[in-house]
Amino acid sequence: MTFFCSPKIKSPKKRAPRRAAPTSQARRGIPALLARPGGRVTRAPSSLLHTHQALIACASANTFAARPSSTETSGPVCAAHSQIFVSSRDGGPTNLEHDVEPSQRTRSIVFMILGAIVARRQGLHRIIYMAENGQMAIHLPLSGGRIGAFSTHTAHPTVLTRFKAFLSAILGIQIELVNPYVYETKGEVVSRVVKDLPDGLPVATSCWRSARVVKGGINHCGECIPCLIRRIAIESHRIDPTRYRRDLLKEDIKRLDEGDEGRRNFVDIAEFVMRFTKQSNKELLDEFPDLICEDFDANRAIEMYRRFGKEARKVLSGYPQLRAFLA
Ligand SMILES: [Zn+2]
Repeated sequence: MTFFCSPKIKSPKKRAPRRAAPTSQARRGIPALLARPGGRVTRAPSSLLHTHQALIACASANTFAARPSSTETSGPVCAAHSQIFVSSRDGGPTNLEHDVEPSQRTRSIVFMILGAIVARRQGLHRIIYMAENGQMAIHLPLSGGRIGAFSTHTAHPTVLTRFKAFLSAILGIQIELVNPYVYETKGEVVSRVVKDLPDGLPVATSCWRSARVVKGGINHCGECIPCLIRRIAIESHRIDPTRYRRDLLKEDIKRLDEGDEGRRNFVDIAEFVMRFTKQSNKELLDEFPDLICEDFDANRAIEMYRRFGKEARKVLSGYPQLRAFLA
């Protein structure tokens, strides 16, 4: 786990009323780069990812030290960086034996709890950020085969609402747990990163399989959903500096075997994009009942997914062999 604190409380005796300073609880993906100074929670299962997290910490610290947000913090930013080993497996550097949770689906729970505890100890618990773009936070199923638990909802607005109540009750302090990017596409989050942290993109990790594919400095598979969403988001603004194990968008996807995972993922994304291009709000509400939720605004979510569709069509139409999927 990497953690930033700001601003520092100097002395317990002279402690002023706690400021409404944020602490950010984030992962190692692109939105994590934009989490304002506060707590940053990530796992460090490999030396490469460990290095990436440290680079993200430095990039964020340098940026926000130079330009603290006047609306969210007061006084100079102090970028304290500490790392905590978190593992779902036995062994590792600590050689500890404990229960194993290999699915990663509980990782946000771990991050939120660690973020809240560290923030509370720093006296900076007013706001905790869970930084995730709206596409992956709301995470509508791309197809009928991906409904329910098949699509992860670790940063879903309902998860944040319920965890806010849980953390406030268990820690005895009122915590705000917010995702400032819930109505932004990944491309829109990338545009902020390009502006605020231009060196951050290559060191942010999006791949669901990064720990398994890491080899020779490559930690993106290039064919999973997050890799494809990342590639579309970055290429909608600039040349993607990421090194992918598989350059799927340059393949003749129509000729790939129907069981090819890259093909299945790409086709599902393309069909999802075309639904949000062609269908009315009413049709989309009928097709995606997940849009009806008291914890976010359905119309704003639909508009966000429509903007994602526009970004995707712009990028994919640049690959001649992929244009047939956009008809
Ligand atoms: Zn991947």
